[in-house]
Amino acid sequence: MKTTVYHLSETTIEELLNQATQVISQGGLVVFPTETVYGIGANALDKNAAKKIYEVKGRPSDNPLIVHIANKKDVFTYTTVTPGKINLLIDTFWPGPLTLVLYKKSVIPDEITGGLKTVAIRFPDNEIAKGLIQQSNLPICAPSANISGRPSSTTFKHVYEDLDGKVDLIIDGGPSKVGLESTVLDLTTDIPTILRPGAITKTMLESVLKTQVIDDTVNRLNKEIPKAPGMKYKHYAPKGKVTLLKGSNQAILRYLRSEVMSSNKTGVIASSELTNKLELEHVFDLGSINQPETIAKNIFLALRTMDELNIETIYIEAFDSKELNAAIMNRLLKAANHHIIYLD
Ligand code: AMP
Ligand code: MG
Repeated sequence: MKTTVYHLSETTIEELLNQATQVISQGGLVVFPTETVYGIGANALDKNAAKKIYEVKGRPSDNPLIVHIANKKDVFTYTTVTPGKINLLIDTFWPGPLTLVLYKKSVIPDEITGGLKTVAIRFPDNEIAKGLIQQSNLPICAPSANISGRPSSTTFKHVYEDLDGKVDLIIDGGPSKVGLESTVLDLTTDIPTILRPGAITKTMLESVLKTQVIDDTVNRLNKEIPKAPGMKYKHYAPKGKVTLLKGSNQAILRYLRSEVMSSNKTGVIASSELTNKLELEHVFDLGSINQPETIAKNIFLALRTMDELNIETIYIEAFDSKELNAAIMNRLLKAANHHIIYLD
């Protein structure tokens, strides 16, 4: 398949939206930027279009897709939720990186929810994403724009690497602002439950809802069947073997200096506070430990950069699990297949 590419920097938003809207309306696939990561989108009401997403990504069919809307009230069109508490959430966090799991209406095909009675819905905060949904006048189902199991794509280059020749259109809207996928919050349980941590943290949700929120991902990390079906699959894996290093800066530096030979097959991903002191050849600086937003934005870029350098052994600094760091550590633990060395 020939993939058309549009760079926002080289065309007008009107031109690219006209083309992209046509593709979506005709049942095709468009890769588009969102504030979290790039998405591979199709008409969410067309099960055949949605099926193509699964084929292209090699995504297991029981892993449901997020439906993207660009008008808050559409959440009531596609789900059976009654206005009330949900308004607090959507008025505070939409558009933005919060996905809500709710009971679906039958207009949403079973094929995109992996047969579940629930559907995950989000209103993305990105002009191109919003424009595409509004202009096509359709909900758009879109998972992250990467081949299944690979790190999510946060730049055009990485989207192109995975999906050129496999989709109708790719829109380059520049690097993703947040860099981590959305927080997934299940509202079908008695107590709202986080199924995937993201930039909207447990503390932020609790302060708006004024009730307890459970973060299910901590307990389920090692369990067989997570509630968000996607969380059970191997994820975010670069080609090299990843090991997380947990301990003080001093301990991590000591370990790397004594155990790790400077080799062109070994790489380190860490905060500036550590990388500043490292003399190894392949070091990716995620940004200061005091700027978790920058670290979040750089995680997938760092993993993919290690692949580009053909790194076989990757050491990554482990962070604490407070606030945004919970989402960062969730992705890192998966990338490392839970392989972690505790140092002191
Ligand atoms: P992706 O868009 O590929 O980054 O992944 C979307 C995530 O949301 C996956 O982990 C899915 O399993 C999860 N998800 C989507 N729909 C539902 C749903 N109805 N119930 C629970 N989790 C869901
Ligand atoms: Mg994904």
